[in-house]
Amino acid sequence: MKKELGIFTFRDLLEHFPSRHVDRTQVKQINEITEQTEYIQVAGRLIFTETAGENKGKRLIAKLRDATGDLELVWFQAITWVQKNLEAGQQYLVYGKIGFFNGVPQIMHPEIELLDPEKTNGKSFLEPVYPSTEKLKVRGLGGRQLAKLTFSLISMLKKEDIPENLPATILGQLKFTDRFTAFEHIHFPPDAHSFERAVERLKFEELFIAQVRMGLMRLQRHRSSQGVIFSQVGELFNLFYKNYLPFALTNAQKRVLKEIRLDTAKGKQMNRLLQGDVGSGKTIVALLCMLLAIDNGFQACLMAPTEILARQHYDSLTALVGNLPVHIKLLTGSSKQKQRKEILQQLETGELNILIGTHAVLEDPVRFRNLGIAIVDEQHRFGVAQRARLWAKAAIPPHVLVMTATPIPRTLAMTAYGDLDYSVIDELPPGRKPIKTVHRYEHKRPAVMDFIKSEIVKGRQAYIIFPLIEESEKLDYENLMKGYENVKAYFPEPKYWISMVHGRQKSELKGVNMQRFVSNDTHIMVSTTVIEVGVNVPNATVMVIESSEKFGLSQLHQLRGRVGRGSDESFCILLTGSKLGNEARERIRIMTSTGDGFKIAEKDLELRGPGDIGGTRQSGVLNFKLASITEDKQLLYLAKQLAIKIIDEDAELDSAVNLQLKNHLQSLQGKTVWSKIS
Ligand code: ADP
Ligand code: MG
Repeated sequence: MKKELGIFTFRDLLEHFPSRHVDRTQVKQINEITEQTEYIQVAGRLIFTETAGENKGKRLIAKLRDATGDLELVWFQAITWVQKNLEAGQQYLVYGKIGFFNGVPQIMHPEIELLDPEKTNGKSFLEPVYPSTEKLKVRGLGGRQLAKLTFSLISMLKKEDIPENLPATILGQLKFTDRFTAFEHIHFPPDAHSFERAVERLKFEELFIAQVRMGLMRLQRHRSSQGVIFSQVGELFNLFYKNYLPFALTNAQKRVLKEIRLDTAKGKQMNRLLQGDVGSGKTIVALLCMLLAIDNGFQACLMAPTEILARQHYDSLTALVGNLPVHIKLLTGSSKQKQRKEILQQLETGELNILIGTHAVLEDPVRFRNLGIAIVDEQHRFGVAQRARLWAKAAIPPHVLVMTATPIPRTLAMTAYGDLDYSVIDELPPGRKPIKTVHRYEHKRPAVMDFIKSEIVKGRQAYIIFPLIEESEKLDYENLMKGYENVKAYFPEPKYWISMVHGRQKSELKGVNMQRFVSNDTHIMVSTTVIEVGVNVPNATVMVIESSEKFGLSQLHQLRGRVGRGSDESFCILLTGSKLGNEARERIRIMTSTGDGFKIAEKDLELRGPGDIGGTRQSGVLNFKLASITEDKQLLYLAKQLAIKIIDEDAELDSAVNLQLKNHLQSLQGKTVWSKIS
């Protein structure tokens, strides 16, 4: 049993929750079985048992008869044992899942026991049904046996054995049952309502305890960490803000800047996640933060996941600061040895103010004189370990700002990143037009190509994206090449020029091809998802995604975000084959119906579950036994709110009313490790 279900202790048994309950007083008649019948309980006399078939096909067949008809029972395993224990002529109570074999109903591996008339005449009795495995059932440990074990365990326990862990104030406020009763009722409810109450209380408990733990960790980090102090908003920042800022900041950008400014002035290390949908304007926020650091005598660095992106940041930031006395350099894997040497030297003397780069920035020879803030763009591409290396780059760890364009649903952010500081740019710059998104089957490709032509005539540019999930996948690569030839046939030189970028190219070539598209020397960019993150070409108005059924929602959203960056109306065309699975169909439906990254992220979470999302966190944080962050949102918000209140009022949990909670948390110590994000 241990191995099969992961049940090792009494506690595990208690927390092996039933998947549902059945009313075991309900005995059906055999002729009530229809195609729709799932689980059924019948009672009758066993007519005979016999074996049939040979070797692997060997099985035991028994026939059960009641007043209305016969039902076949079948076993493929433990045949000898079962046959020895069944006696023809006796009355049995049988429970199991109805299946049809050649149109004849039967139950495979039913739960079967001698009929006890006591049990079937009486009041309603809800019996738990546990997730069990076939193997256990054969060994006589089916759901019914688990129920018996659990029942005897609970009848042995006293209230003190399952002590309360929620403060009485909360219990009173939410009218929850006590913990012992909740455990009793989730297994053996007197009625359906009690079951629901028990489930609600236990779900809340899971969410609340997690929120309190994260709240306390966050507090602990704030109390113990030491950070550099950006005490003033200085000359550079003000000069830039007055004379160089190309547009008015949105309110969301202002709010986030203020949050960061306050946070970096406290002498505590900032560890902040900044979330903002594609195009929400995170770059300018990053620049202003870096100017703030420089004004306070510190250096800054900005890391991007790809060389293309790092270069683009370098280009746009140097353009933005104009002739302000800010010294910015770019360091990537392909920086020449001579440049590299110079950069390293200028970093150590402090001559260099801002270093922009890729992973190359993390390497050991890269030493700063006094790094004050490290900004990481597009967090999901960097691992935790990589970010941790930033810490080692200064005596006092620099402030860390992690920027991500993958909208994280609020519920997920609260559970997965609850111990971090968290800012959101939830407003797009004014004047953005929604991107018109449509779905087309591949046989309509000629019309799509014609549409691209009509946009090119207007002076616009287009992306055509191919899936290349793993850069080494041969088939995808061949498809990309075939696609490229195909596009070339539609768009012949010298009337049209095409760039192509993919992961197998040398980064130099990639850079050149990208640059030609950025400077409008090519009309079309044929690419894989290397283009996904951050690239900014405002003149591009068409995004065609080939085989878009192969992409996940957040990836589609990221890709779409490459267009709609200028003043012209933009289009996203999702091409698919004619056969679409249900999930792919749903993804396409969502993409064509909304442009709101947060809504898309919510849907993504619903479709995929929390395990895959979040990326940097062990999924353990999100594996609640009962609660679900998609289905129990309201309960989660409530839990968060109450957790914050308790920590605000009594961070040490010393008051009498919080004593049980404190004891419970101490008993959990060391059970789950939440690692720091960076
Ligand atoms: P992302 O958050 O995706 O990194 P960017 O920082 O690249 O977004 O900004 C997208 C575009 O919006 C850029 O061209 C940028 O200059 C522009 N932008 C940013 N903030 C504003 C603003 N407040 N008003 C107008 N345009 C803005
Ligand atoms: Mg960006």
